[in-house]
Amino acid sequence: MIDAPDGWIFQLAPILGESLGHYLGRFRRANCLSQSALAELVSIDARLLRGLEMPSLGQPLNVEQLKKLAYFLGLSESNFAEMLPPVRSQLHLTTRLCSKCYANEPIHRQAWQCTGVEQCDRHDAPLLTACPACGTAFRLPALWENGCCEQCWLPFREMHNPSFS
Ligand SMILES: [Zn+2]
Ligand SMILES: [Zn+2]
Repeated sequence: MIDAPDGWIFQLAPILGESLGHYLGRFRRANCLSQSALAELVSIDARLLRGLEMPSLGQPLNVEQLKKLAYFLGLSESNFAEMLPPVRSQLHLTTRLCSKCYANEPIHRQAWQCTGVEQCDRHDAPLLTACPACGTAFRLPALWENGCCEQCWLPFREMHNPSFS
């Protein structure tokens, strides 16, 4: 925990491979912080923070912003840098999921958002871009609080690709 103007901030350890967007969502929920409240605490532009949770909108952080945010979150700069979204040219815009990975560890993995990667390298299974039961696209990983389809509530861990079960 660190001292913040309005009280305590709970620091969370990221899980190896976790995307920054997913981590920031967990961090904000643990601390009941909106994007703008967190941006204010870190004193960075709220648009930058929004861009980290929605990389398709994102602007890369400069070194100073990166240091500030890493420090605030209690992460080393190298840990933090590993969690950053792929650069725009290598970013797969639609949120993707490997249900088997999620069953092992309920996080959104950074590796799923790289263009050119169509399969999970651990499970040799195609990455899903929508719920196989109802076809609803996945929400941003920062909003994956319930770990299920927002439309039909099928848990992510039970989403098996119909052509690959
Ligand atoms: Zn997998
Ligand atoms: Zn669904």
